[in-house]
Amino acid sequence: MKNEELKNRDLDVLWHPCTQMKDHETLPLVPIKKAHGVYLEDFEGNRYIDAISSWWVNMFGHTNEYINSKIKEQLDTLEHVILAGFTHEQVVRLSERLVKLTPPNLDKCFYSDNGSSAVEVSLKMSYHAHLNDGRKKSLFVSLTNSYHGETIGALSVGDVELYKETYEPLLIQTIQTEVPADMSEAAAVEAAGKFEDLCAKRADEISALILEPLIQGAGYMHMYHPKYLQLVRVTCTKYNIHLIADEVMVGFGRTGELFACEKAGISPDFLVLSKGLTGGYLPLSAVLTSNDVYAKFYCDYNEHKAFLHSHSYTGNALACAAANATLDIFENENIIEKNKELALYMSEKLQKFSELPNVGEIRQTGMVCVVELKGYEAKERIGLKVYEYGLKHGVLLRPLGHIVYFMPPYIITKEEINTMMDTAYEAVKNL
Ligand SMILES: *Cc1c(COP(=O)(O)O)cnc(C)c1O
Repeated sequence: MKNEELKNRDLDVLWHPCTQMKDHETLPLVPIKKAHGVYLEDFEGNRYIDAISSWWVNMFGHTNEYINSKIKEQLDTLEHVILAGFTHEQVVRLSERLVKLTPPNLDKCFYSDNGSSAVEVSLKMSYHAHLNDGRKKSLFVSLTNSYHGETIGALSVGDVELYKETYEPLLIQTIQTEVPADMSEAAAVEAAGKFEDLCAKRADEISALILEPLIQGAGYMHMYHPKYLQLVRVTCTKYNIHLIADEVMVGFGRTGELFACEKAGISPDFLVLSKGLTGGYLPLSAVLTSNDVYAKFYCDYNEHKAFLHSHSYTGNALACAAANATLDIFENENIIEKNKELALYMSEKLQKFSELPNVGEIRQTGMVCVVELKGYEAKERIGLKVYEYGLKHGVLLRPLGHIVYFMPPYIITKEEINTMMDTAYEAVKNL
C-alpha cells in the first residue's frame, strides 16, 4: 500500500499550497508515481486525465519524449550559470525566439523564475522607467477580479478577495478599474470608458495598467472581448501610462493564438510570461519590454539608473532548454492550427452542459472551456464535490468555487476529451 504510506509520510512533514490542511482528514491526498501524456498515475495504477494541465503549466503532456531529450542533453552540458556577467546559448536562443514570436516592440527579455516575481519585475521596471524619465508615478491600476500572483507586490495588484483580504494591511496601495462585465463588445467599450475617465483625473500618478488579456484565470475564468485591449492600449499611450500584459496563464496558445495580445492586434509595454513557457517542466518566467524602455536605464553606472534586480536562478539553463524545446514543438507541429480543431470539438461538447438545470453560463476562449454552476452557496463547496467525483472516475478537475473548467494539455485526443468532458457532465448532473 504505497499510496497510503506516502500520504501519511507526507502529512507528517508537508504543508501544501493553497490548502486548508485539515481538509486532508477527509479528503485523501493523491500520491502520483508517474505521468505520461495527459495521464497521471498513482501507486496503485489508477490513472487521471490532467484536465487542468497541472495548474495551467503543462502544454504537451507529461514526460514528453522530445522535451525530456532536450533537458537530458542540456543536463550533461551546462546545468546553470550565474547570468550577471555571464551568458549561455540556451538563454540567448530563447530570447531571440521570444522577441521574434511576441508582438512588435518587445525587444528585450528579463528573466525570473515564477509568475509572481515576473509581475513584480514589470511593476518595478515600469515605475523605474518613469523615474529615470524624471517623473514619479507610483500608482498601479489593475482590473477588478484580477489575479497576478501571491507575493506581496503581485497580490497588491490582484483583486480576488479570497487570496487578498487577509493580507490587506501589508499591501501597497493600488486602484482597480472595472473589468468588462461579459464577453460582449458593448461591455468592453463601457469598461474602457471607465478607465479613460480614471486617467483623465489621475494620469500623473499612474505608472501602469496591469491586466490579464482576455481571460482572468484565478478570477473564476472571467472572459472579455479583445476590443477592451485595443481601447485601453490607446488610452495608455495617450496618457503616458504603461500597459503590462500578464500572459502568465493565457500565453502560449491558451486563447487560440500564441499570445492573447495578438487577438487584439496590440503590443503591451511589458509582456509577462511564465507557466507554459517551459511546457510545464521547470520554473522560469520572462518580462519582455521595448528598446525604448530599455534605453531609459542605459547610461554610465554612476548615474544610478540601472535595474538592479536579480534572482539566484535567473535564466537557468535547464529551464531555458525546456522552453526552447517547447517552442520547437509549437513551431514544428503547427500546434496553433491543430488547437483550432480541438477547440471546436470541445465547444461542441460544451453545449450539452447547458441542458442541465444547475448550469448557468458556459463560455470558451480558445483552449479554455468553462461551465458555471448556479444555485449553490459558497459554503456548500460545490467545486469540491465535482473534484471528488472526477478523481473517482479518472479525471483531475479542480473547479474554482462554482466554476468547472477544462484547460487540458494540447496533446489531448478527441477520445480523451470525451472522457474528460463526459465525466464532468456526469459529475454536474449528479450533484
Ligand atoms: C499563476 C499566475 C501568476 C503567478 O504565477 P506563479 O508562478 O504562480 O507565481 C501570475 N499571473 C497570472 C495571470 C497567473 O495565472
